[in-house]
Amino acid sequence: MNLELSEEQTAVRRLARDFVEREVAPHAAAWDRAESVDRGIVKKLGALGFLGLTVPEEYGGSGGDHLAYALVTEELGRGDSAVRGIVSVSLGLVAKTVAAWGDEDQKRTWLPRLCSGEALGCFGLTEPGTGSDAGNLTTRAVREGDTYRITGSKMFITNGTWADVVLLFARTGGAPGHRGVSAFLVPADSPGLTRREIHGKLGLRGQATAELVLDDVRVPASALLGPEGKGFSVAMSALAKGRMSVAAGCVGLAQAALDAALSYATRREQFGRTIAHHQLVQELIADIAVDVDAARMLTWRVADLVDRGRPFATEASTAKLFASEAAVRCAGNALQVHGGYGYIDEYPAGKLLRDARVMTLYEGTSQIQKLVIGRALTGISAF
Ligand code: FAD
Repeated sequence: MNLELSEEQTAVRRLARDFVEREVAPHAAAWDRAESVDRGIVKKLGALGFLGLTVPEEYGGSGGDHLAYALVTEELGRGDSAVRGIVSVSLGLVAKTVAAWGDEDQKRTWLPRLCSGEALGCFGLTEPGTGSDAGNLTTRAVREGDTYRITGSKMFITNGTWADVVLLFARTGGAPGHRGVSAFLVPADSPGLTRREIHGKLGLRGQATAELVLDDVRVPASALLGPEGKGFSVAMSALAKGRMSVAAGCVGLAQAALDAALSYATRREQFGRTIAHHQLVQELIADIAVDVDAARMLTWRVADLVDRGRPFATEASTAKLFASEAAVRCAGNALQVHGGYGYIDEYPAGKLLRDARVMTLYEGTSQIQKLVIGRALTGISAF
């Protein structure tokens, strides 16, 4: 693996960093307080090509590699995890999955709009009763002639109220467990589909997280993504790559924690000198820095494997597990460096900790990542 970034990768990182410093970071605290990111950000992300980074150019994407995607995701995560999540879901979970599994019509219908930011995607797998055990989902799609009629509900859906298309997973036919799941591209304005925003989140408050209820929603048979009964494979392929994106976002968040800790420690004085002089404060900062480096390297390794067409699922779980736990540790350590000031809104450490906390929960909890890694090592499935 070459750790030297190419000219293109360096340029795209610079573009993302400038954008985040100008358009994202200065507003992150206000968006968090308002419980809504400014929706205009979607068009801006699209105009820069960030919503179609790894989608082939013929479908409106930038045709970039996954390391470039990881770099951009890290920068977005450094500025605001709520904004980073918009991209991770619409591009990482939806557009890339349409590119991988879609037929020509589906690609032509959705990809140019998703890449430009004219449309946004959301990923509807989790239900009120099934999270980690997603293969047992109960939303049902019944085939009636040339249509499917879908009934059920989805929980905690990122971009849920903003999205134009839902990559939705529903049970078709009689096969039990994951074998009976199919994937659909459901327009969000379909009659019978209602969306309710979930408020009161600990973090990622600026992000539109929603519950979706489907009451006899009709879609044409052409909305089926991939073969009938293969929906769980569609979901797992999306999540494996999605985990790299979450890991990259965690690196960005952890880097923001390092930035904040350094900035504060070199200004705040106690015992007649800046607290950066105290060795135990240096220890906190060093611990953050080591976590940032290690998480970044694990994430880059996944990007490198994906770009070389090598298997990467276990490495993606490893990166997601480590980076998400590291993000929580780093934000906590940064808060500690701030003392009591870390506990109030005036400084960013508290928001970083709140935003970090969900990273060990979504796209597979830390326990689920350990089971994935354990299965790869032992050959024994605990699921
Ligand atoms: P459960 O599965 O009920 O787990 C509860 C606890 O039990 C956890 O600690 C878990 O690790 C543990 N556990 C469960 N099974 C096992 C096991 N076999 N062995 C050991 N421990 C186990 N979902 C989507 O589909 N799309 C989205 O866009 C999306 N965005 C989200 C955004 C936010 C802010 C949040 C909070 C969630 C989001 N989710 C989304 C859902 C998320 O992926 C689930 O919350 C997650 O998969 C966990 O499911 P659960 O909450 O039902 O917890």
